[in-house]
Parts: sequence; C-alpha cells; structure tokens
Amino acid sequence: MLPEKPLAWGRARSCIRELAEYGWKRKEELGAENVFDFSLGNPSIPAPDSVNQTIAELLQGDSVALHGYTTAAGLMSLRQRIAGDLNERFDVDVRPERIYVTCGAAAGLAVSLRATLLPGDEVVALAPFFPEYRVFVEASGGNLVTVQPRMGDFQLDVEAFAAALTEKTRAVIINSPNNPSGVVLNSESLLGLTGALRRHEEEVGHPVYLICDEPYRELVYDGAEVPCVFSYYDDTILCYSFSKSMSIPGERIGYLAVGSHMTDGDAVYASIMGAARSLGYVNPPSLFQRVVERCLGQTVDVSKYQENRDLLLSGLREAGYECVEPQGAFYLFVKSPEEDAKSFSERAKKYELLLVPSDDFGTPGYVRIAYCVSRDMILRSMPAFRALMAEYRS
Ligand code: PLP
Repeated sequence: MLPEKPLAWGRARSCIRELAEYGWKRKEELGAENVFDFSLGNPSIPAPDSVNQTIAELLQGDSVALHGYTTAAGLMSLRQRIAGDLNERFDVDVRPERIYVTCGAAAGLAVSLRATLLPGDEVVALAPFFPEYRVFVEASGGNLVTVQPRMGDFQLDVEAFAAALTEKTRAVIINSPNNPSGVVLNSESLLGLTGALRRHEEEVGHPVYLICDEPYRELVYDGAEVPCVFSYYDDTILCYSFSKSMSIPGERIGYLAVGSHMTDGDAVYASIMGAARSLGYVNPPSLFQRVVERCLGQTVDVSKYQENRDLLLSGLREAGYECVEPQGAFYLFVKSPEEDAKSFSERAKKYELLLVPSDDFGTPGYVRIAYCVSRDMILRSMPAFRALMAEYRS
C-alpha cells in the first residue's frame, strides 16, 4: 500500500511535460529548427555576466566554508541585503529576521502553506494559476478553491473573489506577473482584493494570509510596475525567486518574507522554520546564497523578452488570434479558436507548433505560449500560426 495522494501526483502526467517530451522526440526526428517548441518556461537569456564571474571568484576562496551548511534560514548577510533592497525600492519595512532563504519560489510556497494551513482549510487561487499550487495546497492538508479573472483584461473580478471567501479560507495565492497570462495585477485589483480580505478577516476573526508568488517580478515591459503587496496588506507572505530574474532556475535559490506587521508574525515565522524542517530543507545552496548576495539587483536583459513579446503579439493578432495583453513574465495566453483547447493544441502539432492547453491552469479554452525562445524561431513560426488559423476560417 502506498499513500494515495503522492502516488496520484507522481502518476499524473503534466501536460506541459508531456508536450515538451513530444517536442524533444520531434526535434530528433525532424531537426530542432523544424519544431516550434513554445512549451517550457525555461529562461532563454543568459545570466548576467556578474553571476559567472562571482562564482569563479568564490571558487578561489575557502572551499570548506563555501560548501558548508549555512543557518537554515540562510546567511544573515544575505537576508540583510534582501531586506535593505526591498525597503529601498518599495518604501516598506521588511526585517531580515522575517526572511527565510528558500530553494526557489516553489519551496517558498510549499513551506508557507505547510506553515499556515490546518486540515480542511481552503486556499483561494486566482485563475489562471501555476498548476503546482494544487499539489502544494493538498500536500498541506488544504483544498484549492479557484476564482476566474475578469474576462478581457484578466484583472481581478472582485465580486467573484469576495464570494469565494468562506470561514475555512486560510490563505489566498496571487501571482503577478502571471504564469500563464503575463498579466500584472494593477493597484485597483490589489485594493479590491485586500479590501475584501480585511473585511473577511474581521468577519471570521482569524488572519487570512496573502501569499504572493513573484518569480517574474523583474520581468516587466513598457515600464509596467509591480506594486509591492506589503504596502497593501499586513498579513502577507512574499515568495520570490532568482530563477527568472537572474536566469538560474536550476540553482534553486529564492526567499520568502513574512510581513513585519503581520498579526501573528513571530508565530508564523516560527511555523515556517518548522515547516521547512519537516520538508527536509536544511538550507538552500550555500554557493548560490553568496552569489545572489553579491549580485542582488542585477537582472537579465529583459529587452530581449520584450522584443519577443512584441513580435509574437503583433504577429498573432494580425493572423486573427485573440490574445490577452501581457505586461510581464514570458508567456502569452491565446484564446483557442475552438472551445476545447486540448483539441486545438493537438491540431497545432500538425504544423509542429507546441502550445500548452490551459486546462491545468484552471481557465479552460486558451493555450499558453512560452516566448522564452529565440527571436528567429518566433519569426519562422509565423507561417505555421497563419496556416493553423486558416483551418478555422475555411
Ligand atoms: N511560481 C510560478 C508562477 C512559476 O511559473 C514557477 C516556475 O516556473 C514557480 C513558481 C517556481 O519557480 P522556482 O524555480 O523559483 O521554484
């Protein structure tokens, strides 16, 4: 006998992975240049030069200290730099003692949920959402409740959100810029959301935690700004990652920050330390704690992603596709020309176009296009997109 849930999660086929595997097979058969693989969100821009230089410098130093364990919460010098950076940029007052360095945003989310949920609690996620939320929530004994966005601009539907809150709601997860839509939640949405949450907290008499998943915070276009949620709501846990901002997703480094004014912040932070222990996170990679400390504030050249977004958005709109306007991240969310996005994605394969159907993201009827690819591939894929749309028009 094995536990039912881990077995089910392990056996479930992620449609992103499945499509990516299909893509690798097709590339072997046809040559990589003949497959338009938009399936995976793996950064395509190299890390800033300073990242590799810093690694090389660090390797010249004391190897025993470099590769040794650090404190579980991460080096205090790094936590101080992170707090200083957040406070300076967003005029907030994050404290280093409330920062916990994690193996990416994924670990930050898993730990935050494990630390705050009681069995049977509900966690509201705004759809469309990163499919792993469901696993993280269920593994912590909770149930995921989803709320659809306002169709059109994909901002918050305040009424639908307020209606989803119940006595059992313990946490809400938001992700901005969003995977898979690229939408940045504007301050009107955040005001609506945090206003409803404050009213709900008063009604039910316990804190409702707002977990902000922000691995794409630095990837924004046309001067878009990502508001810092600490300025809106005290009971916030911020989950950040350097995976995308520095193009180092395989190195597993990020952090979470518990709001300085959170109602029961000391207890929540203690519970986070306990949750991380229970999940076996001793500390995130020691080398990369030092790398991000020295390189904090440096990001990849975002203009490359913006060029890709502009090219794809204008090309697809011209070809007749309806797209959600993305202000950040590196995804485009495109309405399927037929109701069933899975069937559209299957049809796209005929043209060697690999587009992820949106069902697992909680908002059916769309496909996700990850444009962290070469500009050249986007240009070469355009005739295929046009031919695919022509099928629906004839
Ligand atoms: N959250 C979202 C919305 C993501 O898209 C991803 C990764 O793609 C993650 C979390 C996990 O990121 P990390 O590599 O920092 O664990």
